[in-house]
Amino acid sequence: MKPPAYSRSDLVDLLSAQGEEMEALYRQADDVRRQSCGDGVPIRAILEFSNRCANDCLYCGIRASNSRPIRYRMTPGEILAVAHSLATVPAIGTLVLQSGESPGDSDEEITAWVRQVKTELPHLALTLSVGNRPREVYAAWRAAGMDRYLLRFETSDPALFAHLHPNGTLQDRLQCLRELKAAGVQTGSGFMVGLPGETMETLVDNILLCQSLDLDMIGFGPFIPHPDTPLAGRANIHAAHPDLFFKVLAVLRLMNPDAHIPATTAFDVLFPTGRFLALQRGANVFMPNATPLAYRTHYQLYPGKPGVDRGMEAVLREMEQKLQSVGRFLAQGPGHSLRSERRDEG
Ligand code: SAH
Repeated sequence: MKPPAYSRSDLVDLLSAQGEEMEALYRQADDVRRQSCGDGVPIRAILEFSNRCANDCLYCGIRASNSRPIRYRMTPGEILAVAHSLATVPAIGTLVLQSGESPGDSDEEITAWVRQVKTELPHLALTLSVGNRPREVYAAWRAAGMDRYLLRFETSDPALFAHLHPNGTLQDRLQCLRELKAAGVQTGSGFMVGLPGETMETLVDNILLCQSLDLDMIGFGPFIPHPDTPLAGRANIHAAHPDLFFKVLAVLRLMNPDAHIPATTAFDVLFPTGRFLALQRGANVFMPNATPLAYRTHYQLYPGKPGVDRGMEAVLREMEQKLQSVGRFLAQGPGHSLRSERRDEG
């Protein structure tokens, strides 16, 4: 399927759809999702293995300057135990290891676990999401068996990026994304919607940047202010128009038919069944949280993160039932990149 080449003004029009037009946009996104990705929902279990962080991203609850969260880092043994327990749940095809950013000190240790997890559980696809690293580190992780990487560009506006990230530039981040793709890693990126300082133009540019990066996965979600950060009290600029988050999702699906698009947790903060709705408006992937409950409360990137007190299997069962009610099901297998499969087919 050839995706549409929307202009900036087409995108502004789509994002301002209301009423019946908006419902039609959602239906169209759901149709494209069904044709390109099917009705199976790949499941990626996410393990937030460390909240240690050297960076000071202005929006993030685990930023280095926030002294409130108790800092933890799971041991290799704890991580492997979670991986083994996930391997007994048939629908889970991917383990996503996410953490704060502490480049350098743990890179070799991560190489060792990646190798061990992939050796002991070869059927499990492995995604890392641990921030910017030099090319050699990504290459070492890839050689050890890492399949995928998630690294959001967060915003396409270089000045806003620099303001929000005292420790890096948009250019560095985009360079990391290029290195990952060059290393043969299935690459995911994306952005937050509604950051203070963002404009409609930024949002449109974020959407266009996703398309031009030609991503295997696109992860995005609403910005949610965290009380212990410099953006405390700065409401999401679209708080009064929450439909916009779903319109962004639907448009991303139309423009990137083959991308895996997860129904991200932040949707559940804004709407009681946000992730389920997202799965009916363009998203095709579900990422239940597999972090041991004792650690979860310390990995609050934003407040109100749902499910800090619920085990993964209960959440997965509930989603399975909801999906069944709309003729969908939990997919089996690793759920690798649809984009690269289609490219390989020619
Ligand atoms: N340190 C890793 C993991 C980041 S956490 C990395 O840099 O890739 C995953 C995502 O959570 C971030 O990329 C960001 O987009 C999102 N996030 C962080 N703080 C947030 C907030 N206050 N509201 C909404 N999303 C947030």
